[in-house]
Amino acid sequence: MSVPTISTHNLSISYWSKNKRIEALQNVSLTINAGEFVSLIGPSGCGKSTLLNVIAGLINSGTEVNGSFNISGIKEIGYLFQKQTLLPWRTVIDNVTAPLEIRGVSRHERRKIALAMLEKYGLSGFENSFPRELSGGMQQRVLLIRTLIYQPDVVLLDEPLSSLDAQTRAIVQDEFLRVWRDTGCTFVLVTHDLDEAIALSQRVFLLSARPGKIVKEFQIDLPPERSAIAIRTDPKFQQIQREMWSELTTQVLQPDRGISLLKT
Ligand code: ADP
Ligand code: MG
Repeated sequence: MSVPTISTHNLSISYWSKNKRIEALQNVSLTINAGEFVSLIGPSGCGKSTLLNVIAGLINSGTEVNGSFNISGIKEIGYLFQKQTLLPWRTVIDNVTAPLEIRGVSRHERRKIALAMLEKYGLSGFENSFPRELSGGMQQRVLLIRTLIYQPDVVLLDEPLSSLDAQTRAIVQDEFLRVWRDTGCTFVLVTHDLDEAIALSQRVFLLSARPGKIVKEFQIDLPPERSAIAIRTDPKFQQIQREMWSELTTQVLQPDRGISLLKT
């Protein structure tokens, strides 16, 4: 049975900057169920990161919030921010254990938890390496482990793979799927990569240019046990991909007005 864990109703968010009001989101109503993998796609600046910040409770007092927002049954939220990196002067294990350190977990306990997770996700033997000694894909995996280490119920991912090359990205996407299935966490992913959204999610919300509104919700009817790589040749995947591109190009993207998925 579907149990809603995050929901918004007619949520509108505006920032104030130099006495000017910037409307980031407008009348966003959505429900995310516990254990679901959901993605948000939409043009640069349409409020995707803002929506993740709302879920994470990171909207500050000067921001105008209208409508309602609810989270339930969530004890911990893991958040992998856009362009987040590892601390270069810390080893892998000291990076991974940082959130536990902040929470006052003893050094012995921290190491025990971290070593078990590094082993589970194929990073045994790298605990004393420095980030620069790891490949981009491995660094991304370490970041994800750091996000998972205090066992969040919800994992928020803001364009986590945008710095990786296409091949590495596909491999890490597959690992994200595995982690999602393993942990049973709710995943909310922001991405500008349509294929990534389809390959990983159960539902995808397409947002319009700023102020971001939900243009369409896509149900991704592909098996949860799929491989993020192999699924791309599935006719159903390709059908959804065509529908999404069609919606995106007719309803959302307007290159002549500078509306594109990526910042230029
Ligand atoms: P996205 O993640 O989709 O690129 P954001 O949520 O980061 O979009 O931003 C939405 C809009 O709100 C953008 O126009 C951005 O410049 C603006 N914005 C975001 N954060 C702030 C802030 N703290 N103060 C003022 N404007 C902001
Ligand atoms: Mg963003």
